[in-house]
Amino acid sequence: SDTATLLPLKVLLAAPRGFCAGVDRAIEIVEKAIERYGAPVYVRHEIVHNRFVVDSLKAKGAVFVEELTEVPDGVPVVFSAHGVPKSVPANAEARGLDYLDATCPLVSKVHRQAERQVEHGRHIIFVGHAGHPEVIGTFGQVPEGHMTLVETVEDVEKLDFPEGTELAHLTQTTLSVDDTREIIDRLEERFPQIVGPKAEDICYATSNRQAAVKVLAPQVDLVLVIGGTNSSNSLRLVEVADRMGTDARLIQRGEDIEESWLKGVGAIGITAGASAPEVLVREVIDRLASFRDLEEEIVKTADEKIIFKLPRQLTE
Ligand code: SF4
Repeated sequence: SDTATLLPLKVLLAAPRGFCAGVDRAIEIVEKAIERYGAPVYVRHEIVHNRFVVDSLKAKGAVFVEELTEVPDGVPVVFSAHGVPKSVPANAEARGLDYLDATCPLVSKVHRQAERQVEHGRHIIFVGHAGHPEVIGTFGQVPEGHMTLVETVEDVEKLDFPEGTELAHLTQTTLSVDDTREIIDRLEERFPQIVGPKAEDICYATSNRQAAVKVLAPQVDLVLVIGGTNSSNSLRLVEVADRMGTDARLIQRGEDIEESWLKGVGAIGITAGASAPEVLVREVIDRLASFRDLEEEIVKTADEKIIFKLPRQLTE
């Protein structure tokens, strides 16, 4: 018989989880822009990769588009937390559009590092996921041909540069801490002259959430990660749990959970990607409570106190 399911379900909540300072700031920028300029305020790309957040802002008067060409003249536009190529603000300026940049300051920091490395005559090897808007934005900080993308150690093996090429490495902010370490170790082996940032580019929120899952996963039978299917940091959380040998599922909402998932499950871990709001965590817990009695516990592995300032246009 299935005794585990007769007992209360232990729910271990990862802390930290959910919103990071960059996501908080990006959402506040859209909300404040709507207050200040009135609706509609256009947003280029999903402000953060979460459907619930995007739908909530749509209801307040935000209009989401993929390209600046879809923004009518005379309407303010916000650039998403993932950052944009330099051509985007340049085009906005040329059109006389009021724009607000919600690029996370930790992404902007990588943008400036990219510029600096190219000024120093170095070719950049960028570790990231092809097609992610952050990667497109960072590539767009330097002239074409100065940056090469690698996604895996195998990609590093294939690199080939002329003798004497000066190299630097940089990374996307939301990568797997472990995979990235392996890739950078291999880069340093193959190219001993390569230079890198003093502190790694993976952001505090990404590494803290992964570290929390590492502590949580061995204590549970199943980990639920709340996050968008296009959210890089959320997908990495699923991987971390998986690699520790614990089943893990990415979910968007409470309603995604099926009762059958809890068969034989005595303890369940919950975390949320940096773009997933806390209300969804409560929704997931409510859903679980509709199937079983719960015993909640928090697994705290770090404190986060970082807050980013809003752009001056919104505070003056
Ligand atoms: Fe910034 Fe990291 Fe949050 Fe991305 S996940 S918005 S880089 S703090």
